[in-house]
Amino acid sequence: MKKCPACLDSLTEKIVSGVTVDVCLSGCGGIWFDMDEIKEFDEVTEANLEQLIGNDYTEANHKELVKVRRCPCCENQIMVRRSYDIFGEVEVDQCLKCSGLWLDRGELETIRMQFPTEEDRNKAGDEFISTKLLEIKKEIDQRIKLNEELSEQEKKNNQVAYKLLSSVFSLFSEKK
Ligand SMILES: [Zn+2]
Ligand SMILES: [Zn+2]
Repeated sequence: MKKCPACLDSLTEKIVSGVTVDVCLSGCGGIWFDMDEIKEFDEVTEANLEQLIGNDYTEANHKELVKVRRCPCCENQIMVRRSYDIFGEVEVDQCLKCSGLWLDRGELETIRMQFPTEEDRNKAGDEFISTKLLEIKKEIDQRIKLNEELSEQEKKNNQVAYKLLSSVFSLFSEKK
């Protein structure tokens, strides 16, 4: 029996849309997804959330959550906090060993509200990265213009950074 990483209760296996997911039904209402399983659930049009946590969960059972979260599948593996989306709106816990994901109650709903489709999610990510790259490029451009006061070594460093960034940027633009 898997143990909830957040409230240490036992997780309950649920099969939704053919995928077996572990839900903390008698505890905090969080959900565990094995590697990539969340892809079947992160859009509004996908699997019904009611089937996942719905009526079986009673808010009255709500328990205190622990800060250090251990992977329910890998022994003694502490998970890391990372944002699910590129904007850092939703933070989830991930096991770096098995790539499983833990979502606290409510987080899946937020993720599903962010983008209508997987394509929209990816597109928003691409645009975000390309805007960021442009910003950095501009900043380096400016720094190079102000180069007069810099030492020779600093100038060289800036040029190397600039070349590197330009190639990353052109690679990225080609990809699209
Ligand atoms: Zn729990
Ligand atoms: Zn793990």
